Amino acid sequence: MKLNLLDLDADGLAAWFAELGEKPFRARQVLRWVHQFGEDDFGRMSDVAKSLQARLADLAEVRLPQVLRDATAADGTRKWLLDVGNGNAVECVFIPEENRGTLCISTQAGCALDCAFCSTGKQGFNRNLSAGEIVGQLWWAKKMLGDFRAPGGAQGRRAAETDFSLERIISNVVLMGMGEPLANYENVLSALRLMLDDNAYGLSRRRVTVSTSGIVPAMDRLRDECPVALAVSLHTPNDALRDRLVPINRKYPLDELMAACRRYLEKSPRDFITFEYVMLDGVNDSDAHARELLRLVRDVPCKFNLIPFNPFPASGFKRSPALRVRRFAEILMQAHIVTTTRKTRGEDIDAACGQLAGQVRDRTQRRAKRIITLAETAS
Ligand code: SAH
Ligand code: SF4
Repeated sequence: MKLNLLDLDADGLAAWFAELGEKPFRARQVLRWVHQFGEDDFGRMSDVAKSLQARLADLAEVRLPQVLRDATAADGTRKWLLDVGNGNAVECVFIPEENRGTLCISTQAGCALDCAFCSTGKQGFNRNLSAGEIVGQLWWAKKMLGDFRAPGGAQGRRAAETDFSLERIISNVVLMGMGEPLANYENVLSALRLMLDDNAYGLSRRRVTVSTSGIVPAMDRLRDECPVALAVSLHTPNDALRDRLVPINRKYPLDELMAACRRYLEKSPRDFITFEYVMLDGVNDSDAHARELLRLVRDVPCKFNLIPFNPFPASGFKRSPALRVRRFAEILMQAHIVTTTRKTRGEDIDAACGQLAGQVRDRTQRRAKRIITLAETAS
């Protein structure tokens, strides 16, 4: 199979061009064509010499996942279902808001970590997405939303303090779709580097957020190798409950997780960690839980994002009532912790947190059944 250029970050592309005996600025040109102008055809990269265009087409391609479905919800949330081969599909969701546009990206087909309240976890682990499949979601979303630049437009050198993100439709990227980003570290790292590169997507570190259920050694690596904004899926104030709801806690318990958060903050582009907390009726949402949380996070500068649980079939959990969520938030806010409650978006297209790809799984199961039936017929 041909090399997929989407899998290479700027250094990777420069190294490959060097192997071909091509100059580094040629690699930068191609990088810009692909990731700034959204061009996947070498023949249309007009300032690349014809001979190099032909050579590239011979050896490589810009291989994008196929878009299986494109749905827009009543509130403007838009969801794409992307085929990643072998009956696996992943989802990518664009959430427009007044002052920003956020793209939520998947990093794995399925997830091995099996959090009790998550539909992706219930699906089990299929495989890691390649860097190209991760960044390919951003590429497609920009293509579909008309968010790529026109070639030949002012390039402009970015002053260190300038944040151009708000000039674009997609101003923020969150790795909060299907999968655990830090369990697919290398590929996520290449994808992040492309998102941040000024010759590619040029997003500011503060506007790219990795969400993790708490894989401590990988949090340390991210801090050292590519610090971006960090969200940690906390969900409970003590180990006993977290061991049950977020099983990775048995390996990296809360005291280690809190220590890793403090270390992360030494290099983070933001001076706080965002703690995500899914509100499960009667499970983790009492006043006592909120007060216990305050003790847990007292040494970690943080904000809280409460996520009302999004139900899916046979989850066994219920969403906390709105009043309970409000009361819980009040206790945190009285302790001067900035607390937001996530609005549920895109419910009519199953695009809310933790609901992604429920239908994909059904489809996969149907396909599996069909294959079994066919096998039985054949034998
Ligand atoms: N694996 C990473 C990122 C993907 S999940 C993580 O766990 O952080 C993104 C967020 O959605 C996490 O905070 C996750 O706990 C939350 N989530 C999962 N299932 C949910 C559900 N059914 N309702 C609400 N939030 C959910
Ligand atoms: Fe995986 Fe995150 Fe779902 Fe847990 S919540 S199963 S880590 S995707």
